[in-house]
Amino acid sequence: MTDTGFSGEQQEYLKGFMAGVEARRGTLLPGGGEGGAPPDALRAAQDATIARGGKLVPQEDAKREKHPLDRWEEMAARAASGAFPKPIDDFIGRYHGLFFVGPAQDAFMCRLRIPGGILSAHQLDGIAEIARDCAGPYADVTTRANLQLREIPAARGIEVVARLAELGIIPKGTGADNIRNITASPTAGIDPQELVDTRPLVRALHHHILNTRDLFALPRKFNISVCGGGAVEVLEETNDISLRAVETPSGLRYRLTLGGITGHRDFARPTGIVVKPEEAVRVCDAILRVFIAEGDRTDRKKARLKYVLDRLGMEGFVGLVEQRLGAALERVAEADLRHAPPPAKHGHLGIHAQKQAGLNYIGVVTPVGRLTLPQLHGIADAARRFGSGTIRLTVWQNLILSDIPDAALSAACDAIAALALGWQASNIRGGLVACTGNAGCKFAASNTKRHAAELAAFLEARIAVDAPINIHLTGCHHSCAQHYIADIGLLGAKVERGEDLVEGYDLHVGGGSGPEQKIGRMILPKVAADALGPAVLALLGAWMRDRAPGET
Ligand code: SF4
Repeated sequence: MTDTGFSGEQQEYLKGFMAGVEARRGTLLPGGGEGGAPPDALRAAQDATIARGGKLVPQEDAKREKHPLDRWEEMAARAASGAFPKPIDDFIGRYHGLFFVGPAQDAFMCRLRIPGGILSAHQLDGIAEIARDCAGPYADVTTRANLQLREIPAARGIEVVARLAELGIIPKGTGADNIRNITASPTAGIDPQELVDTRPLVRALHHHILNTRDLFALPRKFNISVCGGGAVEVLEETNDISLRAVETPSGLRYRLTLGGITGHRDFARPTGIVVKPEEAVRVCDAILRVFIAEGDRTDRKKARLKYVLDRLGMEGFVGLVEQRLGAALERVAEADLRHAPPPAKHGHLGIHAQKQAGLNYIGVVTPVGRLTLPQLHGIADAARRFGSGTIRLTVWQNLILSDIPDAALSAACDAIAALALGWQASNIRGGLVACTGNAGCKFAASNTKRHAAELAAFLEARIAVDAPINIHLTGCHHSCAQHYIADIGLLGAKVERGEDLVEGYDLHVGGGSGPEQKIGRMILPKVAADALGPAVLALLGAWMRDRAPGET
C-alpha cells in the first residue's frame, strides 16, 4: 500500500483511466461530437431540424443551451433570492413543476403529479400543510385529475417542490414540453364494470416517464390516458395517447388511439391497433420517441402529435413506431372488440357499490374544483376513518372516497356534509367544469371559476333540468376546461360595451365525449358575463321544450 491508500495495481489502473479522460476531454458533453457520447434525444431531434433548414423556436434554443433538467440549481438560486423568472427562464422552471403566473398573480403555481389521480390521506394532509405554510390556503383539482397549489411567493417555491418530493409527489415535467399527469379510470380496482384494474400500468408508466431522461425531449406537451372501462368517464379521446381496455378474441388488450387535442377540434384517432397490458409501456415509449424525432420544433402551434399524424398519415407514423419496436403491432378489427358498458354521465358523483361486496365509493362534489385547507384535511380524515385512506381525483374536478363499508356510509356522508361538501348535485352543477381563469392565469379573458359558480346559481333558481348536462368554462383557446366537448361550452372573450371591454364568452353547444363524442359549434359569440345566465337559460328552455326523446 502507498500513502494514498491505493495499492500499486489500483494506482496504475487510475493513471490509465485519467489518461483516457484527458484524451477525450471536450468530447464528453451530451452531443459533444465525434468520438464523444452519442447526442441525447433532444439534441438529436434539434440537429435533425437544423439539418433540414428549420429555425428552432426560442423555447428550443433555451433547451439547446442547457438541458432544462440540468438547470435546477440556477432556478433554485433565483427563487431563493425572491426573484421570479423572466419568460424563457419560467419555461425552463416548468420542467420542475413551478410556473410563474404573473401578471395575473405575482406568484408561482405548482402543478403536482398524481398518477391516475389516486393519492393517500397522508399525502393530502401533507399537501394541505404545504399550502398552509407556502401557498394560498387551498388546492385546485384540475381537469387532469391533479392538484395545483397557487399564490406561492418566489422564496417558497423550492420548499414546495422539496416538501412534495418528501411526500412521494414529484412534479417534474408537469409544465412546458413534457408528458403531463397520466389520467386513468378513478375507480380502478373497485369498479364492478371495469375490464381491468389500470393502476399497475399507470404506476409503471408514471415511473418510466420520471426516470427516462430522453422523454423530457418533447417538442410540445403530451397527454396520456388509460381507461379500464369503469363507470366514470376519463375523456381518454382528448389525449395524445389513449389506451382503452377491450376484450379481443385473444384476450384483454388496450385499444390504441392517437392524436387527441380537442382544443384543436380533434379527437384521438383509431389506429386499429391493440396492445397487451404488459407491452403498453414499451409501446408508449416508442410512440413518444417517434414524436420526439418527428415533431415540429419550428412552430409551437404545429408542435403537437396531431400535426405529425396529419403529415405522415397514421400508417406512416405507426410504421415508424414498429421500426423502433422491431416488430409489428397487433391489429384487430373494431367489430371483434368488446367494450365495457359506457360510463354514466355524472357517474363521478354519488354513492356506488364497489365490486368488493359490502364496500362503496362516494363521488364528492367539489365546487369548480377548489378545496380549502379544512376541506383538504377533512377529506383526508374521512378517507382514513371510514375508508382505506385513499382519495381518487377525477378529470371532472372532483374526488372520490373509496372502500367505505355499508355500515359506515351514513357517517361518511355526514362527515362530507360537515365540510360544506356534498355527494349530490343538480344536473347543472354535476358537470360544471371551469379552468383557472383570470384570477390566476394570464391567458384568460374572463374569471371562469366565479362565472361558473354564478351561472350555476342563476340557472338552478330558474330551471329544473331533467337530464345531466355538462357546462365547461375555459378562459382562452388553450381550452384547459375543454369547451368543445361540453353540451354547453363557454370560451372566454372580451366583449365591447360602449367604449369599454368587459368579460364574456363565446357560447358553443352540442359537444360531447364518450358515447356522445362530438365537437361543439359556436352559436353565439361574445356574450357578456352578466348576460350569460339569461342566454343559457333560454337555450336550456328551448332544448327541454323542443328536443326529441333522448336528444342531448
Ligand atoms: Fe389559462 Fe387558458 Fe388554461 Fe384557462 S384555458 S387555465 S385561461 S391557459
